[in-house]
Amino acid sequence: MATSDLSRIGHWANNKAFPGTSGRTAAVTNPATGAVTGEVALAHVEDCHAVIEAAAAAFPAWRDTSLAKRTAIMFRFRELLNERKGELAEIITGEHGKVLSDALGEVTRGQEVVEFACGIPHLLKGGFSENASTGVDVTSIRQPLGVVGIISPFNFPAMVPMWFFPVAIAAGNTVVLKPSEKDPSAALWLAELWAEAGLPAGVFNVLQGDKVAVDELLSHRAVKAISFVGSTPVAQYVYAAGTAEGKRVQALGGAKNHAVVLPDADLDLAADAMVNAGFGSAGERCMAISAVVAVGAIADELVAKIAERARLVRTGDGTRDCDMGPLVTAAHRDRVASYIDGAEREGAAIVVDGRQVVADGGRDGFWLGPTVVDRVTTTMSCYTDEIFGPVLSVLRVDSYDEALELINANPYGNGTAIFTNDGGAARRFHNEVEVGMVGINVPIPVPMAYYSFGGWKSSLFGDTHAHGTEGVHFFTRGKVVTTRWRGPSQGGLNLGFPQTV
Ligand code: NAD
Repeated sequence: MATSDLSRIGHWANNKAFPGTSGRTAAVTNPATGAVTGEVALAHVEDCHAVIEAAAAAFPAWRDTSLAKRTAIMFRFRELLNERKGELAEIITGEHGKVLSDALGEVTRGQEVVEFACGIPHLLKGGFSENASTGVDVTSIRQPLGVVGIISPFNFPAMVPMWFFPVAIAAGNTVVLKPSEKDPSAALWLAELWAEAGLPAGVFNVLQGDKVAVDELLSHRAVKAISFVGSTPVAQYVYAAGTAEGKRVQALGGAKNHAVVLPDADLDLAADAMVNAGFGSAGERCMAISAVVAVGAIADELVAKIAERARLVRTGDGTRDCDMGPLVTAAHRDRVASYIDGAEREGAAIVVDGRQVVADGGRDGFWLGPTVVDRVTTTMSCYTDEIFGPVLSVLRVDSYDEALELINANPYGNGTAIFTNDGGAARRFHNEVEVGMVGINVPIPVPMAYYSFGGWKSSLFGDTHAHGTEGVHFFTRGKVVTTRWRGPSQGGLNLGFPQTV
């Protein structure tokens, strides 16, 4: 492709595309063909200032825009998104590689948060206590913070930003979204949709870039809060750097999600779930199942059922009715494949080997087929590290207690699931497991928009989860107003500490 055919992917500020002035760019590829399809701008500090300042300038008027008007814009955005989400899904498939139906699913889950945020007048209602002291009333209100930064990962270029920006905007904040440089176009499509929905200039902005842009968001005085999602080392860095600058930070990190299969489970249903949750989106989901914990004598039968299904998965171009697409980049595909090499060297059994997959897609696509690795131990690198690819590791244990101990000893705590027909065991599990999101016979327990999404331990730094009431809390701060109206005859000096009477 000639350089002039590449799409130029720039920033968005004040409801206009903004190419930036840094001269730095990164290549964007179609993972199903390996072709470079675009060049994304990588901001330098001046570009960051331009975008952040657009957001800062828009804040006072947006904060003071009535709830009725803000809500009307939210509803318009929801309607436009619902009508046109197919376009967004195609953009996601073209840069991320996930199959179209999955891309559409991601947008729909993001749309649920927009729908939740349409209820912002109810969510922002404060409290009122009449006559808290004689003639004194107390009101609590929640107000927006100002400019908020959202830094998102490659694996959900639409849904993860939508975990945050609908609530942030509805609550009266202005937003700077820094998408992943691997699939940056979805953010711009969403920005155009906001403009079409009537959102005033400067309320939703997009800053393309890498660490330079992230560091500027973390240090700029106008940015009051950061919502980050990505790998654990970067999440930890963002949390430490952002809070050191006095910002409110929620930083969601990596994952290693275990599914426990108890001996009484329906093994066919469990095997379906393992394959769906392990290989959907080529395992590039923070809630993907990557470790299957087979309890007791069922392991051979369970592995056989998983392997039989994994072999049926059609790997190929996401636009062609396949089940599973490519990995996001060639480097990531090679890294994931290296974990399969490592497992083989360390003595695990490669039951289904995705390294030799014949994919229904471009010769230079970033292909790796579904892989099932049995007899994995807790010291093997395919278990200790987050692989983030289509590799299911099976660990064999003798008892429920051993399975629980293994999960609780893992540094991550994003999602987990148990497969069983024993209600007592399931109840014990949800009570005892140290993980933020738990599925009972549900392999990917992503909470609905009106609950909050977030893991424990190294899967989340900060104390506030995404969306739901925690999201509303994150993007607002509380104020309490105490009021008394006295007549001229009720004055007089009293320097004592105010007490209720
Ligand atoms: P990543 O950490 O490489 O990148 C995330 C964001 O941080 C991107 O916008 C990127 O530009 C920026 N970034 C990367 N390196 C940086 C650095 N050194 N300094 C500052 N900023 C930097 O993550 P990724 O590869 O895009 O996404 C995959 C990861 O995200 C996986 O670990 C996955 O588990 C995690 N994830 C977690 C959740 C969750 O809810 N916990 C959800 C989705 C993805």
